[in-house]
Amino acid sequence: MNRISHWIDGKVEVGASGRSGPVFDPATGEQQASVDFASAAEVDRAVAVAKAAFPAWRSTSLSRRAEVLFRVRELVDANRKEIATLLSKEHGKVLGDALGEVARGLENIEFACGIPNLMKGSYSEQASTGIDVYSIKQPLGVVAGITPFNFPAMVPMWMFANALACGNTMVLKPSEKDPSASMFVAELLKQAGLPDGVYNVVNGDKVAVDRLLEHPDVQAISFVGSTPIARHIYETGTRNGKRVQALGGAKNHMLVLADADLDMAADAAVSAAYGSAGERCMAVSVVLASEAIADDLVAKIKDRIPAIKVGPAAEDGNEMGPLITGEHRDKVEGYIAGAADEGAQVLVDGREGAPARGFFVKPTLLDGVKPGMRCYDDEIFGPVLSITRVRGYDDGVALINANQYGNGTAIFTRDGGAARQFEFDVQVGMVGVNVPVPVPVSYYSFGGWKSSLFGDQHIYGPEGVNFYTRSKVVTRRWPDPRTSKVDLGFPQNR
Ligand code: NAD
Repeated sequence: MNRISHWIDGKVEVGASGRSGPVFDPATGEQQASVDFASAAEVDRAVAVAKAAFPAWRSTSLSRRAEVLFRVRELVDANRKEIATLLSKEHGKVLGDALGEVARGLENIEFACGIPNLMKGSYSEQASTGIDVYSIKQPLGVVAGITPFNFPAMVPMWMFANALACGNTMVLKPSEKDPSASMFVAELLKQAGLPDGVYNVVNGDKVAVDRLLEHPDVQAISFVGSTPIARHIYETGTRNGKRVQALGGAKNHMLVLADADLDMAADAAVSAAYGSAGERCMAVSVVLASEAIADDLVAKIKDRIPAIKVGPAAEDGNEMGPLITGEHRDKVEGYIAGAADEGAQVLVDGREGAPARGFFVKPTLLDGVKPGMRCYDDEIFGPVLSITRVRGYDDGVALINANQYGNGTAIFTRDGGAARQFEFDVQVGMVGVNVPVPVPVSYYSFGGWKSSLFGDQHIYGPEGVNFYTRSKVVTRRWPDPRTSKVDLGFPQNR
């Protein structure tokens, strides 16, 4: 059976901890590989290698670093299909979806190619007589990334593109459920000319993560995953003096006003709820349907569901693959059963007719869902769309703002005034107007509010550059007899 190990100092390093975990093929339910789980000592070695590589990498000029990133861009572009195929094999998402993931990840590498411009500081000539003041951005040192199973290629790219471009060295701990894409991309970074040791991958579980959180030589942690773990990462990392950005879970609401284009809204709800089997932190999981149009909208959504082709990524034409593990499938099915028990109507039951092999649940539609029901309150992270009926705008916004999560949201309307008011009122980090999955382009930054993000800086884009650098301000003058004298007073500007 295929064994996946670590990538340290520019090569594969076979794990020595004696611990490992299974990597399943979610489309068949069978184990297809095992992944080594790093011990604390193996994490220490990766961090030591990254630390040793830091002085030379941070001294490498901006134009040489940009050159490496341009080559990374070319190699990822040339290997889109290979990366996407690895994603489909281990995650289960269909190839078109996997190619979309690679494309959105690549945009972050393209953004980081502009690092000479992004690292610019500011300069004030003659701040005082004969004295100039300027700020510079410098890298932090060794930074760590900890990533979730649902975007095994894109989320690491959110992190490493800016982290490395800014001159840091890095240790990535990918999800143990689908680690191969990270190993493959590490090889591409080497081919692109990234010096050995600058980028390292340790595979593993809580043991590796906890060591990264306490390691004195790790300066910053970027985390993307579920809210309970994000909170743990933030609290432990900051207690240990590290800079931390920890992105958590979500429960994204799509508010449909009575004047919306209902066909457009139905298409959007179906695409955003069931794409990637709902395993997206920006998936729409609740449609807030205004009473006046709720019956029509629900009928349009329900009509679209039978046409969705569910099956293995390896078979052409399928649009939705399986869930990541059998355990997760059972959890999602538990929410569907629970919804019926709590009084919601199961309009389409995805437990029925799902392929017998693999971890499949088909698209599910619940109506009459209300706060207080588990299917409303919890992040399900599966192909389950809930309809909650609201009187109109005020009711809808009140529900969104009362939710513990604040990752993404969308409003569907033709009323520009209502849309503008929504942007103003809503307590959510990423907002769509007639756009159901408003993932920001790479030159903005990605991040939610409330329990969807712990930390001060959003990920990637300009805030990503801020996160991976710290600023220094220099006050400078050159020898000039006209400005030099003994003066014991507090320095004042002249
Ligand atoms: P997860 O929290 O279970 O795992 C994320 C990472 O943390 C993995 O690398 C895992 O090995 C590690 N981990 C798991 N348990 C740990 C523990 N007890 N201690 C230390 N480390 C631990 O998340 P997941 O199931 O891989 O991913 C799905 C979740 O990620 C969903 O909640 C989803 O909303 C969220 N997500 C959020 C965003 C975002 O940008 N906000 C993006 C993608 C996914």
